[in-house]
Amino acid sequence: MNCYYHKDKESTTECISCGKPLCRACSAYWGANLCTHCIKSTALKKRAVFILRLIAVILLTTLLFYLFYCKIGGRTPTDALSALTGSTGSERKTVVFVYALACIPVGLRAALLLGRRFAQAYELSGNRVILCFIAVIAGGLLLGGAAMPIYCIWLIYNTVKYNVTAKAAKTRLDKLSGKNVKSKRTKRRKIK
Ligand SMILES: [Zn+2]
Ligand SMILES: [Zn+2]
Repeated sequence: MNCYYHKDKESTTECISCGKPLCRACSAYWGANLCTHCIKSTALKKRAVFILRLIAVILLTTLLFYLFYCKIGGRTPTDALSALTGSTGSERKTVVFVYALACIPVGLRAALLLGRRFAQAYELSGNRVILCFIAVIAGGLLLGGAAMPIYCIWLIYNTVKYNVTAKAAKTRLDKLSGKNVKSKRTKRRKIK
């Protein structure tokens, strides 16, 4: 059989995801025996997942902050703003405390992710896994407020990473199908 992308080349392997025949150059291109179509669709799916997670994290934290600070605490969002910009130290502490409370679920989520990676990397087993997870949960509860922005940065990093991969796959697909990227660009300029 011939390569799906190069009709003149003999295929040496198949895409492990969809089974398209691939030549040596195509199977080695992404380093994972995956065809460019599968790389692109996986990257697009993962990008969507990370964008949704980022939105969920920000919405959940904002909602919890609103619930604790405004609904239970009987204050308004403007109170929080004026406490942060004003000079009253005690109210600022309240804002920071409520923010840390609102971050606990996200902190736990980030800590669990980190703990799982740690357990896998050091091949922990038995009681050590339990100890690791207890430490992680304690860390998540304590450092929720600090973990929240770091977790958001990690989500944004992954979104950008998969966006770059999807774009690279699209460029390769255009190249393979014979489209001239340069002429496309000049066409776009002409439309403007
Ligand atoms: Zn495939
Ligand atoms: Zn090929």
